[in-house]
Amino acid sequence: MLGTVLHGPRDIRCEEVSEPKILKPTDAVIRLAASCVCGSDLWPFRGLNDVTAPMAMGHEYCGLVEEVGGAVTTIRPGQFVVGSFCISDNTCSHCRRGFQSSCVQREFMSGAQAPRARVPLADGTLVATPGTPSDDLIPSLLAASDVLGTGWYAADAARVEAGATVAVVGDGAVGLMGVLAAKQMGAGRIIAMSRHKARQNLALEFGATDIVTERGDAGVERVKALTEGVGADSVLECVGTKEAMTQAIECARPGAMIGYVGVPHGVELDGQWLFFSQRGLLGGPAPVRRFLPHLIDLVFARKINPGKVFDLQLPLAEVAEGYRAMDERRAIKTLLRV
Ligand SMILES: [Zn+2]
Repeated sequence: MLGTVLHGPRDIRCEEVSEPKILKPTDAVIRLAASCVCGSDLWPFRGLNDVTAPMAMGHEYCGLVEEVGGAVTTIRPGQFVVGSFCISDNTCSHCRRGFQSSCVQREFMSGAQAPRARVPLADGTLVATPGTPSDDLIPSLLAASDVLGTGWYAADAARVEAGATVAVVGDGAVGLMGVLAAKQMGAGRIIAMSRHKARQNLALEFGATDIVTERGDAGVERVKALTEGVGADSVLECVGTKEAMTQAIECARPGAMIGYVGVPHGVELDGQWLFFSQRGLLGGPAPVRRFLPHLIDLVFARKINPGKVFDLQLPLAEVAEGYRAMDERRAIKTLLRV
């Protein structure tokens, strides 16, 4: 079959790869309904993570179960499933506390920018949908696998409450999903920080009430001005740079939580500055598995439409253009037809 392989910086290829197989009795093999490119795929694509060997790309997926291993008990062939980009058993102490992305058996999904994929720990990782979804729900279910689940986690970690004022740093796909999540959690005011017209419009559609175009100190001043000098009750950091993290912490009021889900690159924080800021930080890879049942319900009930975050659709063979379009910010997120 064809699959997506990163060979080195900016060298992404759709090429012949081996078919996925059941390797362990806890595995499943699924036929993907669609796949996509993640913002985090751009780090190795840009050469900012080491790529020492060819990497099978893709960790966002939903589709039909084709085959399961002998030890799989709850997932069956023929079911439509959505899974997290973090593989988890969903039974260990961390999983039971809702931190499946720190599962003692954690692995990271790979090889999902392809027509079929192997999913380890199928019982713990996959969630079956209430039935086979209609085609128009596929982009939203695919979004639940990572980008929506990650934005949701940012809002959950930032402890967004009904009526709260929320600031969202980052207008990429995850930031936009953070806006959607904050809206669903009842935020009274959602300040989206974005300088990009199309992304501002999508943020407003997902529930943003204010747009701040300034960055850095000017952005912080603007958020302060919008909150009578106090700062936001919850801040979602969805970028991962030092500038974004500093901005997120400074936009928050004392006692606020910052949910940070941008993978940090070059972020170092001063201990005393953090101490006297009196803000809380919780982030890391999102425990998407915790949120999947609720997110699937919201999508099936058509209460949310996160699939709108995909503004470019390409066949798998053109995956390289999908990466380039996101790298050059011509596209927010690329859906791949597999
Ligand atoms: Zn676990």
